[in-house]
This record gives sequence, structure tokens and C-alpha cells, in this order.
Amino acid sequence: MPAPLEYGFATRAIRAGHRRTPEGEHSEPLFLTSSFVFRTAAEAAARFAGEEPGNIYSRFTNPTVRAFEERLAALEGGECCVATASGMAAILAVCLGLLKSGDRILAARSLFGTTTVLFDKYLRRFGIETRYVPLSDLAAWDSALAEDQGRSIRLLFCETPSNPLTEMVDLQALAEIAHRFGALLVVDNCLCTPALQRPLEFGADIVIHSATKYLDGQGRCLGGAVIGDRRLVGEEVYGVLRTAGPSLSPFNAWVLLKGLETLELRMLAQSQTAQSLAQWLSHQPGIRRVYYPGLSAHPQHDLVGTQQRTGGAIVSFEVVGGRTSAWRVIDSTQMLSITANLGDVKTTITHPATTTHARLTPEQRAEAGISEGLIRLAVGLEDLKDIQADLERGLGPLERG
Ligand SMILES: *Cc1c(COP(=O)(O)O)cnc(C)c1O
Repeated sequence: MPAPLEYGFATRAIRAGHRRTPEGEHSEPLFLTSSFVFRTAAEAAARFAGEEPGNIYSRFTNPTVRAFEERLAALEGGECCVATASGMAAILAVCLGLLKSGDRILAARSLFGTTTVLFDKYLRRFGIETRYVPLSDLAAWDSALAEDQGRSIRLLFCETPSNPLTEMVDLQALAEIAHRFGALLVVDNCLCTPALQRPLEFGADIVIHSATKYLDGQGRCLGGAVIGDRRLVGEEVYGVLRTAGPSLSPFNAWVLLKGLETLELRMLAQSQTAQSLAQWLSHQPGIRRVYYPGLSAHPQHDLVGTQQRTGGAIVSFEVVGGRTSAWRVIDSTQMLSITANLGDVKTTITHPATTTHARLTPEQRAEAGISEGLIRLAVGLEDLKDIQADLERGLGPLERG
């Protein structure tokens, strides 16, 4: 039986979405099948006509994918969830489902890099323009919408906290601004996951996930999801999925379904290590600034505990001495993984200026606050002391700036 919404978060993460088959299996079954069989020609006709519920083809529906969708919808508190092949497929499906030529997107300046490329290079070709504002500046969102007067801005799009600088926006205030101008608020909830933050509760209309990150949590497969109401997500976004085809594979859905079972434990444990690490980094020599929402010096620290449950698991810091020092710290590590991925139980270390943000011009990087000395950590589940020791190898020789 799918767990009703009255169950607690941990219970929903473990029980929601699985309808036991007559075989009596305890673990969620994996339906590796591309199509489904009908008993008669009349039954096939009725299913195709939409007169009778049931599976037809796995691009449309698949029981394992549906179990993942129902579980994630129960965790985000949404009416409906559709799973996608990746996080980018989720963002594309939302745009194709809800926008048309002449519409515009109003987005936060600090977005996942590929999202910006999707908006500026591909959607623009089809007559959909994107304008950018600073994430936490509510007045800037408001005045961009006031200028437009409901003519063309249909979607507001943001991630909070941002990556890598962990800037945040007040979601409730932003949702009110969006709705005052008849626009929808779309939140990419990748960095917090529903274990730490549920944007729909603050008035957001649609939540997007790259399930590749924390929902899997163990770096195994790609996936994505869109959560919202039955009309926007269940009809418009789902329609794109079933027609254009970036559907989630049943195997990946099964991996992600099992990932959700430990999501809350991982997010809380990884946040706790990140919090300790951020505090420790603040006292290390050679570090100019630490970016972490859980530090009282963070400009939007007030949102921790109200909007998002913890500071999350992303910690960034700027070392003195620019790129040379940053690369030395990264190259001195022996355990941390030098990779651009995040959301894994393995801690990863990245130099944003030359990897994730390398496509930006130096001026754009300066404007975004991505300095040459910036290092991003996506904190995993290893022992705190081992992560500290690995960082100390490179930090020790740096002079306090
Ligand atoms: C990784 C990521 C995406 C894209 O997800 P994929 O699964 O890699 O397609 C989108 N948004 C954010 C915030 C991400 O970190």
C-alpha cells in the first residue's frame, strides 16, 4: 500500500509508492520491460483510447518508475511527479511543457552552468528569452516583473542555495512576487532535497530535481524529476515526456528508489560534517572566506532552520594566493575525489573557475563571485578528521592573508 501523507518523512521515504504484487515481494520489484501485454484487442484499444487505466509502453508509464515518482511526490508534498532521464531533461520538459515562443524566463544569475546554456543557446532559438537577476535580491525580481507587467514573463527559475557560493533566496517572498504578476515559480531543489527543504510548502509551483545527485546519493546513475500539481506536471510536463521521450529507465528508477530510503540520514549526516568542516576552515591559515549557510556570518543565515533545515553539504572557501594556491590544496589531497560531481557519499573537491565555471568570461566570473582562489567541497560521509587531514596537507603551507 502506498503510504498516506500522514506518515512521517522517514516512513514515506521507505514505504511510499510500492504496491506489492501477488508475488508478495518485500523489496520493490524492477520491471525491465519496454512494453505491456493486453489480454484482448479490445483491451488494447481501450487503453490506447484512455478509457481504461493501465500500462502500454515504458516511455509512457512503468511500474518501477511510477513507484519512484509516487515516493518522491510524497516527500516533496506534491500532487504529482514525473521522472525524467536526467536533471537537464526535467528542466527541458518543464520549459517545453509550459512555454511558447514569445514567453520569457526570469532566472537567478547563479544557476547550474548547463541550465544557463539551455536557456541562452537552445531555448532562445525557439523565441524564448531569459533575463537574469541576482538570486537573493527580491527587489530586482520584483522590478523586472513590474517592468514586464505580465506581458511575457511566465516562469521564475532559481536554485537555493546556489552552487558554489551557497547564496539563498526567501522562497515564500519570491513565490508571492511571482504570483502577483501571474508567473510560476520553479525551484531546482537539487542541493537541499526534500529532506532539508520543500519549496512547494513555501508557495513554489514546481520543483525540479537532478536525481543524479543526492537522491541517488552514491554516484551510480542519472535521473531527474518534476513535482507539482496534476494539471501543470501531470498533464503538460508529462505530455512532453511521453511524446519527446526523455523518460527515466526502470533500472535507474529502481536505483533511485532505494536511494530515497536513506536520503534523510545521509543529508543530516553530510550536513553535520559540512557544518563542522566550515567552522574548522574558518580558523585555518590562508583562507580568506568560507561560504556556508550554517555559519552565522552568512548573509542569509536566518533562512537556516526556517526555510531549509540545515546548512546543507556544500562548503566553498577562498584561499589566499589565487589559482596556484587553490590548485596546490586540491592536488595535495590524497583521499578526496577531484571531480565536478556532487551529492555523493564520497567527498568531492572542485576548482570552479577552471571547471564548472570555465566557460564564463573573466568579467562574468568576477561578477558571479567565482574567484581563482575558490574551492568547492561537496561533503560526503567519511570521517571528519580524515577530510580535515586531507585538506591540511595543502592548507598548512599557506600563509594567513
Ligand atoms: C547536476 C545538476 C543539474 C543537471 O542534472 P543532470 O542529472 O546532470 O542532468 C541541474 N541542476 C543542478 C543544480 C545540478 O547540480
